Amino acid sequence: MSAPAPPRVLIVEDDRTIVGNLVEYLEARGLTVDSAHDGAAALARLASDTYDVIVLDLGLPRADGLQVLQHLRRRLAVATPVLVLTARDALASKAEAFELGADDYVVKPFALAEIEMRIRALHRRARGAAVEDVRRAGPLALDRRTREVRVGGVPLKLAPRGMQILELLLQDPGRVVTRAELEAALWPHDQPTSDALRSQIHLLRQALAQAGYDGLETVHGVGYRLRTEVSSSR
Ligand code: CA
Repeated sequence: MSAPAPPRVLIVEDDRTIVGNLVEYLEARGLTVDSAHDGAAALARLASDTYDVIVLDLGLPRADGLQVLQHLRRRLAVATPVLVLTARDALASKAEAFELGADDYVVKPFALAEIEMRIRALHRRARGAAVEDVRRAGPLALDRRTREVRVGGVPLKLAPRGMQILELLLQDPGRVVTRAELEAALWPHDQPTSDALRSQIHLLRQALAQAGYDGLETVHGVGYRLRTEVSSSR
């Protein structure tokens, strides 16, 4: 196997000095680093971009870090490893973070080298663990590690929103995902027009159908689900 690409990291932190230090250090060590200074900005980035590791402060303006964590795990279905980096050292605070899906927890003040080591370890573990992280419905398969979608083995390119919808539907194939769940995940900060979701579904259904999967079903008045039995039309 070739050497893994360096981790792509998102730092979510409102203290600009800490962000500056982390970015400078990690980039000098070959990592690719983006930053977001509050919860809303972080969620916006995560809705359209993918990272290998997220470094998350808890004391953030507006949306607290724990809310961000909860949102990205439960609503956006983002499985990316999260390293919580915070001044909160109480056991209860750690318990809450792990409960909501954190993978690691470091209390400030911290050594930059330690953050780098932990990021690399999380990345390595996620790569190893995620090799088998493929979700399927009939001929449709999504590799959650590479975010590659295939229909009958043939790769398919989807727009970011289509990808998000598909990830949610594939979390538990066969289950009906409600319109409200999808809207909350796709437009976390504003009320979409009544047709916004419908048109995203239409685009996704079209892309899947062209690739030979016609199993994206509308459950009228409720939401959508994926048919799981083999139903490739080609
Ligand atoms: Ca803070």
